[in-house]
Amino acid sequence: LTTSRDETTRVLIEVAEAQSFVHQWLTRLSPVEAPLADALGCVASESVDAREAVPGFDNSAMDGYAVRSSDTTDGAVRLSVPEAVLAGDVASAALAPGEAMRIMTGAPLPVGADAVCMIEEATVDADGAHVVVPRPMGRGENVRRAGDDVVVGDRLVDAGVVIGAGLVGVLAGQGLALVSVYARPRVGVLSTGHELATDAGALRPGQIRDSNRPMLLALLRRSGFEPVDLGTVEDDAREIEGRFREGAATCDAVVSTGGVSVGDADHVKHVLTALCGERSRTMRVAVRPGKPFAFGVTRDEGVPLFGLAGNPVSTMVGYELFVRPALRRRAGFTDVERPRVTAVLDVPLERQKDGKLQIVFATAGVHHDGRVHVTSVARAGSHLLNAVASANACVPVPDGPGFAAGEVVPVMVLDADALFANGRADTDTAAPT
Ligand code: AMP
Ligand code: MG
Repeated sequence: LTTSRDETTRVLIEVAEAQSFVHQWLTRLSPVEAPLADALGCVASESVDAREAVPGFDNSAMDGYAVRSSDTTDGAVRLSVPEAVLAGDVASAALAPGEAMRIMTGAPLPVGADAVCMIEEATVDADGAHVVVPRPMGRGENVRRAGDDVVVGDRLVDAGVVIGAGLVGVLAGQGLALVSVYARPRVGVLSTGHELATDAGALRPGQIRDSNRPMLLALLRRSGFEPVDLGTVEDDAREIEGRFREGAATCDAVVSTGGVSVGDADHVKHVLTALCGERSRTMRVAVRPGKPFAFGVTRDEGVPLFGLAGNPVSTMVGYELFVRPALRRRAGFTDVERPRVTAVLDVPLERQKDGKLQIVFATAGVHHDGRVHVTSVARAGSHLLNAVASANACVPVPDGPGFAAGEVVPVMVLDADALFANGRADTDTAAPT
């Protein structure tokens, strides 16, 4: 492998340029027929139309007495009760004039009945043989009509829609066990670095623990992808190449950390060049942290390989800016970016001018004024993972002097649920006086 010093002299490229280099090579994964439970969170690749009406038959919305409404027009009418019908059963006979059938919620309405009197309204004889319906019942009262929710032919799923828990229920309600979705990307993760300890034992001098691989596996799972642990590997070009080949053969993408900078043991970028040729690029992205970034798509399988910088906060930024959007695109999402909201800065966000976009991890919450506030920001430092671990948002701060407290700025939301938890935690200081 050649030692190209190209990237040391090349200018910084904008985040958007790096993203579009990645995106130009990406193909959507093939659709699969997935079992409903596995399809949760996946993107539908085909529309689905209803083949069954729901409800499938007129049925009772209440536990009570099925009646002919015309029998009850005088109110306080006494009717005989020939039988009871439970959900899942069918009455043995039609309802004759002068009769009321005891009926449970979900049971089919007997032929002849067109209303149900709630059990709470009816007065029944001790032997259950007669019931008094106290008032005139309206036609259709407490009856759920066939096709109320779904009519045969209704469009239930549009291609491109994300399958949520409710849709899983709707499709199950059609008797469907499978749904066509874009496959959930299987993503291999490997850590590179001679310094990484491979077990939980005592560290040798100079050794560190591997934070990135468990973190990336967790980030991938949280994003709805299927993480695949490819382990750790030494700073050895041949070993790294072997591990990437294994990942490319078995996964839909591979993410590595470490070895993409300009150090003497930084082999990942050369391996990506070897595996991907023209379709790879080693970049210096105008972002802090996360400047070194290598990307390629394998010649053989067309599998994207992401080489993220090894500092844990750089890894996190690389994941958010490059990996997650790319994998969402592979998974068929059209909306691939983190949602952005505008937020009030309760703290200043000063920075030095250095030609880069700075990504600042922050704690944000919805406060009593109904707006999102950024209440604290993490200390900057690509090695300070603990400092950013509890952040639920990122503030992209463009090159320049930064922001003053009170400014309203766009914020990337990493954890929307936490926006509300953080608001509650801040109740006292945020309450209007
Ligand atoms: P590199 O990108 O290989 O130059 O690594 C940059 C910094 O990140 C070095 O201080 C590494 O020790 C550290 N680092 C690399 N990989 C990991 C990892 N898996 N977990 C924690 N720190 C790491
Ligand atoms: Mg290294």
